[in-house]
Amino acid sequence: MNQVFITSWKDLPAPLAGSVAAAEASFIESLPHSGGLPFKVSPYFASLAGPEPGDPIRRQFLPHPAEALPDPFALQDPLGEALHKASPRLIHQYPDRALLLAGGSCAGYCRYCFRRRWIGQPKGFIRGEELRPVLAYLKAHPGIREILISGGDPLVAADALLAGLFSALREARPGILLRICTRVPITQPGRLTGESIALLKAFRPLRMVIQSNHPRELAAPAQEVLRACVDQGIPVHVQTVLLRGINDTAAVLTALFRACLDLGLTPYYLFQLDLAPGTAHFRVPLKTGLALYREVKGRLSGLGLPVYAVDLPGGGGKIHLHEGVIAGEREEAGARVYLLQGPGGKLWPYPADTP
Ligand SMILES: *Cc1c(COP(=O)(O)O)cnc(C)c1O
Repeated sequence: MNQVFITSWKDLPAPLAGSVAAAEASFIESLPHSGGLPFKVSPYFASLAGPEPGDPIRRQFLPHPAEALPDPFALQDPLGEALHKASPRLIHQYPDRALLLAGGSCAGYCRYCFRRRWIGQPKGFIRGEELRPVLAYLKAHPGIREILISGGDPLVAADALLAGLFSALREARPGILLRICTRVPITQPGRLTGESIALLKAFRPLRMVIQSNHPRELAAPAQEVLRACVDQGIPVHVQTVLLRGINDTAAVLTALFRACLDLGLTPYYLFQLDLAPGTAHFRVPLKTGLALYREVKGRLSGLGLPVYAVDLPGGGGKIHLHEGVIAGEREEAGARVYLLQGPGGKLWPYPADTP
């Protein structure tokens, strides 16, 4: 399927294009020269957005000049993935699972992306020579029982490429669990044809982890493909990124998680924002997030409640967030930071406020 994406703001649907302010337009036009995360959105996802500057869909894909503001806490590699690289495309941080950077593009770029340094580089979908060290590593490490297929978004690749990758992984390691990390069901649901879903089904054990941040993303086309996946026996888990002004109210989060439950999807993680450059304006202060999570927990069935978590900045791994993880606080570079309790009691700084 040949996808045509919008990469110029002038090609947005008329009401949206008309809503782009002069400062936004010049910022977008500067991105190819500044090396910032490129602008790209699918016509479908753009059609879900309203023209108001605060619209929760618009803000997720439309570049904003605030991305250029300095952030003293920004990290080029916020998750410290380089520390855990087993090969150029494989990250092995946890004993029983590893993450594959299958490709370098997505069906649109989220402005809060934490892998923005990787995204937009001219990286094709993994195959051939690039796949060889990955397969060798998986063979040599039988403790890895699950492979996260991420990127980029693996589902922007053609079905034939996906089938080739899945077959190679299974040949190297029969029975390995495939976890497909994708936002395509939300941003480009038309990509998932009946044949694509049958392909995923044929490679079970396979689970899909999607990202959804707002109930309006679960529009009819997304509902249709997600229901089809569930009907075909593909479990679908949902990750949500906590985003300031987009989903940082108990009402929005509760509506989102309930909508997931109604579709047969399992809310999995609610992520506190990673410290990627140019994303501080999306960050909800940690204490606000904790209070919000407590409120949602009080309202919602346990089946619909994801785990509130953060990747400790700089490679400490994922931890669950609750009041008890804040072990202390101090001033750092003129700003307040919390010290979060990581594995083994090690303390990791995370900013208390947004700049
Ligand atoms: C998040 C992540 C995983 C998966 O962790 P889960 O808690 O099982 O979802 C695996 N590897 C890396 C490098 C990760 O960042």
